[in-house]
Amino acid sequence: MFTKTAREIIRSVKVAGKPLSIHCEVQHIPRFRITLKNFLSQHKKRYGYAPILYCLTPVNEPYVEGFFGRVNGDLDKQLEKAYLDLQRNGYSIQLHVHLTFKSNLLSLKQKKEVISNAYKWMRDVGLHPTELVLGWWCNEKGMENIGSQLNLRLVKKDEYRVLHDHQLLDLK
Ligand SMILES: [Zn+2]
Repeated sequence: MFTKTAREIIRSVKVAGKPLSIHCEVQHIPRFRITLKNFLSQHKKRYGYAPILYCLTPVNEPYVEGFFGRVNGDLDKQLEKAYLDLQRNGYSIQLHVHLTFKSNLLSLKQKKEVISNAYKWMRDVGLHPTELVLGWWCNEKGMENIGSQLNLRLVKKDEYRVLHDHQLLDLK
Protein backbone atom coordinates (compact mmCIF):
# COMPACT_ATOMS: atom_id res chain seq x y z
CA MET A 1 0.00 0.00 0.00
CA PHE A 2 2.87 2.38 0.79
CA THR A 3 5.71 3.04 -1.58
CA LYS A 4 8.01 4.60 1.02
CA THR A 5 8.96 3.29 4.41
CA ALA A 6 8.10 5.34 7.48
CA ARG A 7 11.78 6.24 7.94
CA GLU A 8 12.08 7.48 4.37
CA ILE A 9 9.03 9.72 4.89
CA ILE A 10 10.45 11.23 8.08
CA ARG A 11 13.83 11.88 6.45
CA SER A 12 12.18 13.45 3.42
CA VAL A 13 10.65 16.16 5.66
CA LYS A 14 14.02 17.82 5.82
CA VAL A 15 14.51 17.65 2.08
CA ALA A 16 11.09 18.92 1.06
CA GLY A 17 10.75 21.45 3.86
CA LYS A 18 7.16 20.44 4.48
CA PRO A 19 5.85 19.69 7.94
CA LEU A 20 4.91 16.15 8.86
CA SER A 21 1.32 15.19 9.63
CA ILE A 22 -0.06 11.91 10.89
CA HIS A 23 -3.28 10.23 9.83
CA CYS A 24 -4.64 8.44 12.89
CA GLU A 25 -6.72 5.38 12.09
CA VAL A 26 -5.97 2.86 14.85
CA GLN A 27 -5.97 4.84 18.09
CA HIS A 28 -8.51 2.41 19.57
CA ILE A 29 -5.71 -0.21 19.73
CA PRO A 30 -3.52 0.27 22.84
CA ARG A 31 -0.14 -0.51 21.33
CA PHE A 32 -0.65 2.08 18.57
CA ARG A 33 -1.65 4.68 21.16
CA ILE A 34 1.60 4.14 23.05
CA THR A 35 3.69 4.16 19.88
CA LEU A 36 2.09 7.41 18.69
CA LYS A 37 2.69 9.24 21.96
CA ASN A 38 6.32 8.15 22.05
CA PHE A 39 6.81 9.16 18.44
CA LEU A 40 5.22 12.59 18.98
CA SER A 41 7.40 13.51 21.93
CA GLN A 42 10.57 12.32 20.17
CA HIS A 43 9.63 14.19 16.99
CA LYS A 44 8.92 17.38 18.92
CA LYS A 45 12.29 17.22 20.67
CA ARG A 46 14.14 16.56 17.45
CA TYR A 47 12.37 18.87 15.00
CA GLY A 48 10.85 21.48 17.32
CA TYR A 49 7.20 20.94 16.41
CA ALA A 50 4.56 18.28 16.87
CA PRO A 51 2.93 16.89 13.71
CA ILE A 52 -0.77 17.70 13.26
CA LEU A 53 -2.99 14.67 13.84
CA TYR A 54 -5.76 14.02 11.31
CA CYS A 55 -8.06 11.58 13.08
CA LEU A 56 -10.80 9.20 12.00
CA THR A 57 -14.09 9.16 13.90
CA PRO A 58 -16.60 6.37 14.63
CA VAL A 59 -18.47 7.17 11.37
CA ASN A 60 -15.61 5.27 9.72
CA GLU A 61 -16.02 2.11 11.81
CA PRO A 62 -16.69 -0.08 8.73
CA TYR A 63 -13.49 1.25 7.10
CA VAL A 64 -11.50 0.67 10.29
CA GLU A 65 -12.80 -2.89 10.64
CA GLY A 66 -12.19 -3.59 6.94
CA PHE A 67 -8.55 -2.52 7.11
CA PHE A 68 -7.52 -3.32 10.68
CA GLY A 69 -9.86 -6.05 11.90
CA ARG A 70 -12.80 -6.23 14.20
CA VAL A 71 -13.05 -3.50 16.82
CA ASN A 72 -12.88 -4.90 20.30
CA GLY A 73 -15.47 -2.99 22.38
CA ASP A 74 -16.93 0.48 21.91
CA LEU A 75 -15.07 2.46 19.24
CA ASP A 76 -16.81 5.72 20.25
CA LYS A 77 -15.55 5.60 23.80
CA GLN A 78 -12.08 4.37 22.87
CA LEU A 79 -11.49 7.13 20.32
CA GLU A 80 -12.95 9.81 22.57
CA LYS A 81 -10.57 8.83 25.36
CA ALA A 82 -7.54 8.60 23.07
CA TYR A 83 -8.12 11.94 21.28
CA LEU A 84 -8.98 13.88 24.42
CA ASP A 85 -5.82 12.57 26.02
CA LEU A 86 -3.78 13.76 23.02
CA GLN A 87 -5.53 17.13 23.07
CA ARG A 88 -4.78 17.51 26.81
CA ASN A 89 -1.14 16.89 25.98
CA GLY A 90 -1.20 19.83 23.57
CA TYR A 91 -1.51 18.03 20.24
CA SER A 92 -3.68 19.38 17.44
CA ILE A 93 -6.57 17.02 16.60
CA GLN A 94 -8.07 17.60 13.16
CA LEU A 95 -10.64 15.72 11.13
CA HIS A 96 -9.94 12.81 8.79
CA VAL A 97 -12.84 11.19 6.91
CA HIS A 98 -12.87 8.32 4.43
CA LEU A 99 -15.76 8.47 1.97
CA THR A 100 -15.51 6.03 -0.92
CA PHE A 101 -12.55 4.94 -2.98
CA LYS A 102 -14.57 5.57 -6.15
CA SER A 103 -15.87 9.11 -5.82
CA ASN A 104 -19.04 8.58 -7.87
CA LEU A 105 -20.45 5.92 -5.54
CA LEU A 106 -21.85 8.49 -3.11
CA SER A 107 -23.88 11.59 -3.93
CA LEU A 108 -22.64 14.97 -2.75
CA LYS A 109 -25.49 14.97 -0.25
CA GLN A 110 -24.39 11.63 1.19
CA LYS A 111 -20.78 12.81 1.41
CA LYS A 112 -21.87 15.93 3.24
CA GLU A 113 -23.85 13.84 5.68
CA VAL A 114 -20.87 11.61 6.52
CA ILE A 115 -18.53 14.59 6.97
CA SER A 116 -21.12 16.49 9.05
CA ASN A 117 -21.63 13.48 11.32
CA ALA A 118 -17.89 13.06 11.79
CA TYR A 119 -17.51 16.78 12.58
CA LYS A 120 -20.45 16.67 14.98
CA TRP A 121 -18.96 13.69 16.80
CA MET A 122 -15.71 15.59 17.34
CA ARG A 123 -17.51 18.69 18.60
CA ASP A 124 -19.75 16.65 20.87
CA VAL A 125 -16.81 15.01 22.62
CA GLY A 126 -14.98 18.34 23.07
CA LEU A 127 -12.64 18.51 20.08
CA HIS A 128 -12.43 21.60 17.86
CA PRO A 129 -11.25 20.69 14.37
CA THR A 130 -10.65 23.45 11.83
CA GLU A 131 -9.10 21.30 9.08
CA LEU A 132 -10.28 18.30 7.10
CA VAL A 133 -8.30 15.66 5.23
CA LEU A 134 -10.29 13.31 3.04
CA GLY A 135 -9.20 9.69 2.74
CA TRP A 136 -7.39 8.80 -0.48
CA TRP A 137 -7.28 12.57 -1.16
CA CYS A 138 -10.74 12.51 -2.76
CA ASN A 139 -10.79 16.30 -3.02
CA GLU A 140 -13.14 16.36 -5.98
CA LYS A 141 -15.52 19.13 -6.95
CA GLY A 142 -17.86 20.32 -4.22
CA MET A 143 -15.78 19.05 -1.32
CA GLU A 144 -14.25 22.43 -0.55
CA ASN A 145 -17.77 23.87 -0.21
CA ILE A 146 -18.82 21.13 2.18
CA GLY A 147 -15.74 21.87 4.25
CA SER A 148 -16.32 25.61 4.35
CA GLN A 149 -19.97 25.15 5.35
CA LEU A 150 -18.62 23.48 8.50
CA ASN A 151 -15.77 26.00 8.87
CA LEU A 152 -13.28 23.30 7.95
CA ARG A 153 -10.40 24.04 5.61
CA LEU A 154 -9.92 21.22 3.11
CA VAL A 155 -6.25 20.20 3.23
CA LYS A 156 -4.57 19.42 -0.08
CA LYS A 157 -2.28 16.48 -0.67
CA ASP A 158 0.91 18.47 -1.18
CA GLU A 159 0.70 20.54 2.03
CA TYR A 160 2.21 17.97 4.36
CA ARG A 161 4.30 14.85 4.43
CA VAL A 162 2.08 12.07 5.70
CA LEU A 163 2.63 9.13 7.98
CA HIS A 164 -0.08 6.84 9.32
CA ASP A 165 -0.23 5.87 12.98
CA HIS A 166 -0.17 2.21 11.97
CA GLN A 167 3.18 2.74 10.21
CA LEU A 168 4.92 3.93 13.36
CA LEU A 169 5.46 0.40 14.63
CA ASP A 170 7.72 -0.11 11.60
CA LEU A 171 10.17 2.39 13.10
CA LYS A 172 11.16 0.04 15.89
ZN1 LIG B 1 -6.88 7.65 5.91
